[in-house]
Amino acid sequence: MKAVAVFPRTHEVKLIEHEAPRLTEPDQVRVRMLEMGICGTDKEICAFEYGTPPAGSDYLVIGHESLGQVMEVGPATSRVKVGDLVVPTVRRPCPHAACHPCRAGYPDFCITGDYTERGIKGAHGFMTEEVVDHERYLHLVPPALRDVAVLTEPLTIAEKARDQIQQFVYRLPWVERATPEEVRRNELTAVVLGAGPVGLLGAMILQVAGFETAVYALPPAPNPGSEIVEAIGGKYYSHGSIPAETKQALFGHIHLIYEATGVSRLAFEVLKLLGPNSIFALTGVPGLKEPIEVDADLLMRNIVLKNQVVFGTVNASAENFEAAIRDIGIFHQRWPDALRALITSRSTPEEAPGLLLGKIGGIKNVITFERATSREQGR
Ligand SMILES: [Zn+2]
Ligand SMILES: [Zn+2]
Repeated sequence: MKAVAVFPRTHEVKLIEHEAPRLTEPDQVRVRMLEMGICGTDKEICAFEYGTPPAGSDYLVIGHESLGQVMEVGPATSRVKVGDLVVPTVRRPCPHAACHPCRAGYPDFCITGDYTERGIKGAHGFMTEEVVDHERYLHLVPPALRDVAVLTEPLTIAEKARDQIQQFVYRLPWVERATPEEVRRNELTAVVLGAGPVGLLGAMILQVAGFETAVYALPPAPNPGSEIVEAIGGKYYSHGSIPAETKQALFGHIHLIYEATGVSRLAFEVLKLLGPNSIFALTGVPGLKEPIEVDADLLMRNIVLKNQVVFGTVNASAENFEAAIRDIGIFHQRWPDALRALITSRSTPEEAPGLLLGKIGGIKNVITFERATSREQGR
């Protein structure tokens, strides 16, 4: 069967013939892959900055953002049936008894670094015709979300951040569980840095939660990202376009910043705008470059004197995948066109190496194994 593979030793990315997987344990499930999203991590793997083939293989089948359909179930499965749509999780636990997060089912918090990640680190990914996985790693998707469920994995980043943020908010002794109406009444403001898929999906979660949401990104409006921000009721600001009075109004009054660019200079600049008792979530992974100058004294004063929380978050748990599928359903009801507009192209596996190696525009580009020919671009 066909698979898109990366060969780190010979620096090749190509479509290969890969042996079809078989069920070897009773709780396993065989899944036909329908759609795979391409993200920055995939592009880094294809630039050979990253990515480890499984032991004994000289290549890694790429792909971690996926949607599949169940073809075969082992005798010890109970939850999924043949024909069901499923999204698999990416990270799998490390083997160490002393790693409490992995042993408790939270490899996203692994402390040893010996976890595997399908399509990234030590395990083949999903950009292939069929995969086999344990039932416990598969999450059921309602058929109505067939066209957009490939966005589940990128949304899990915001879902995990939201989980963490809730814990930080409830550290404040007087705060009780707030409904979206209460959040709206209190005029809580959030700023999202970056208008890629992670930023835009984060903005959708914040809008649903009742925040007044602004998205800041480099490209001037109008552009596909700014149109999505406006369609969901948010405000879009591009580089250099923020009026002085807006900046003044924002200063010290932002309740939540969700960073999704990986640009450290921008992150630390915007951290200065964070209000008292407020939270800054970092999700981007910058490349390691020369050290930069930041206003360390001002930032440290603010963090202390304003009881601020700055935290990082990576990967996601099973609960975060379940929540992401539920929220895709909510977004699909509220903003069907804006949600679909996040997927800017669908291409064939044959076109995948070119997309992975070239400079691709658009928001989320998807590889589909379902059809022989490219679907029309866009919606
Ligand atoms: Zn990704
Ligand atoms: Zn671990």
